[in-house]
Amino acid sequence: MPLPTLPPDHHVHTLLCGHATGTPEEYAEAAFSRGIPALAITDHIPAPDGYDPETRMGIKDFARYDAAVRKAQARWPGRIRFGIEADFYTGCESWLNTFLQTHPFDVVLGAVHFIGTWGFDNPAQIGGWQERPLERIWSDYFDQVRRLAETGLFDVIAHIDLPKKFGHRLPASRLLELAEPALQAIAVRGLALEINSGGLRKPVGEIYPSPTLLRRACELGIPILFGSDAHRPEDVGAGFTEAVRLAWACGYSQHVIVEERRLRWESLPPAAPATA
Ligand code: ZN
Ligand code: FE
Ligand code: FE
Ligand code: ZN
Repeated sequence: MPLPTLPPDHHVHTLLCGHATGTPEEYAEAAFSRGIPALAITDHIPAPDGYDPETRMGIKDFARYDAAVRKAQARWPGRIRFGIEADFYTGCESWLNTFLQTHPFDVVLGAVHFIGTWGFDNPAQIGGWQERPLERIWSDYFDQVRRLAETGLFDVIAHIDLPKKFGHRLPASRLLELAEPALQAIAVRGLALEINSGGLRKPVGEIYPSPTLLRRACELGIPILFGSDAHRPEDVGAGFTEAVRLAWACGYSQHVIVEERRLRWESLPPAAPATA
């Protein structure tokens, strides 16, 4: 059998989160028609106590999410994974631990979208970037990522350099220093690192993570997988040609598939030649 030309997409959002469109079946149709061999549906996890209710389904909607993913699984056996994008923030651990154990997820993406109560990647809260030193933000962020990895609750670290979303960058050498403890924790705890092509569609115009971070992850033996972070079916697998090329360029020749919360290694699809 020839190698698939694109890897599975491990990160898409459905209409249930309130800021995306498309059902799991619409995502699957879009993915399979463009050579994506498998798909994980990973909506934003519901949260207790009204935490960030604007960007996620309510707890009472979870049964609908579960049913919608099951319906797609029945239509395309073996090709749809039941996933979730779970926020890590201070105090979430015990609730999250119970929630994740209660539902039979295939893959749990861990994500940091908040520093304290500040949603640093939320366009409505972009003013927060003027209120704190840049280095402090990145340092606090990577500290959260390290703690996320150390909980052992997650399979994947999603969009590991998300604070660059609006273009707030650090010099590469400083970024690497601040990220190192988080990368070490990810390596030790055996999490996979997501190559998230969604950054290409954001002001920064760059895949998460940057080449500097991805090269270091490769040195540390951290497994990778791919996610588009699509919020509409048209974007499923968007940017994956560039994402695969980036993985090869940073030293990778393998990626992983996550199923039933276990990582399985596979050969990386060949990189398509860059077009002028
Ligand atoms: Zn979202
Ligand atoms: Fe996210
Ligand atoms: Fe996402
Ligand atoms: Zn995301």
